[in-house]
Amino acid sequence: TIGVVVLDHEGKIAAGTSTGGKGFERIGRVSDSAMPAGNYANPKAGISCTGIGEDIIDECLAARIVVRVTDGLSLMNAFERSFTEAERNKRDFGAIGIDATGAIAWGKTCEVILTAYHTGDAIGDALEMSPEMGVGIA
Ligand code: ASP
Repeated sequence: TIGVVVLDHEGKIAAGTSTGGKGFERIGRVSDSAMPAGNYANPKAGISCTGIGEDIIDECLAARIVVRVTDGLSLMNAFERSFTEAERNKRDFGAIGIDATGAIAWGKTCEVILTAYHTGDAIGDALEMSPEMGVGIA
């Protein structure tokens, strides 16, 4: 999966998720990436998810985080609350997010998901890698 969340110079937020699927799926399976569960943005926040699509759909992860931010939680608190629930439910996924202030957050329940962030303007600046597990903010 390649997921991206962006805030442009006009304050518009977008989220995008490209996926090859989880592998060996049944014919007709629709990935979470094509649903608000796995990829969602509104004027307050944008979220892109990766991992086991069925888990992401069960938690309605992207839309859930965006709704929490829209209802007034900070992006970090929305991630913390959503990933606490995910850990409790033994989910296998990760997510990246951005809000209208430019705050960036990530969360992951497993080590195999890599996330990186870039907050500068210059193309080619090094990406910072986020920690292996848990929830964080930049
Ligand atoms: N979420 C995707 C799916 O289950 C897999 C991935 O690209 O992370 O289809």
